[in-house]
Amino acid sequence: MADVIALVSGGLDSTTLLYQLRAEGHSLRALSVDYGQRHGRELTFARELGAEFGIDWRPLDLTRLVQFFGQNSLTDSTHAVPAGAYSPDTMAQTLVPNRNMVLLSVAIAWAIDSASQAVAFGAHGGTYTPYPDCRPAFATAMDAAARVCHTAPIEVWAPFVNWSKADIVTRGAELGVPFERTWSCYRGGETHCGKCGTCADRRAAFVESGVPDPTEYEVG
Ligand SMILES: [Zn+2]
Repeated sequence: MADVIALVSGGLDSTTLLYQLRAEGHSLRALSVDYGQRHGRELTFARELGAEFGIDWRPLDLTRLVQFFGQNSLTDSTHAVPAGAYSPDTMAQTLVPNRNMVLLSVAIAWAIDSASQAVAFGAHGGTYTPYPDCRPAFATAMDAAARVCHTAPIEVWAPFVNWSKADIVTRGAELGVPFERTWSCYRGGETHCGKCGTCADRRAAFVESGVPDPTEYEVG
């Protein structure tokens, strides 16, 4: 058992991560970051999750970082979110540069300040070319850095890094994760659009895992 800071976006992966860490008996804190993502709606779900767990949940406003993130469709509202399943091209359009290192760095700072032993994030390999900062090599490198950035070593945990999204859905179902209270869509509407890459990824994960999908999609 450890004191752990979890990065929680309100998405399916990080919500399942929090359930898993609790099931393992760890003492939890959670950090959610607004980095200007147009699907900021996910943070509402993160806040509700933190309240449900009764843990120290802290939102962080890093929206001023948008000026350094360039023209990607997650943080630039003039840049359309591409439709269809992920491809190298649509993946590149939704890539926020070095996002996970930025978020993990803040979490590591909080871990040091709160005398926690680890930070955890819900990166997974994905069904297509994974985002560079979700790859196993990145998680391993961040773990190595976190172990030497302070007098006491901090560990970086990425327990899903070699899993598919379907694996996460399967595990989440076992843990009783309320998937209807998680958010994936990059378009930032009131309901999941059903067309963007991450909606396609979410839908496919439920189909592949055989777990009923409670998500309401605009397009069936
Ligand atoms: Zn969508």
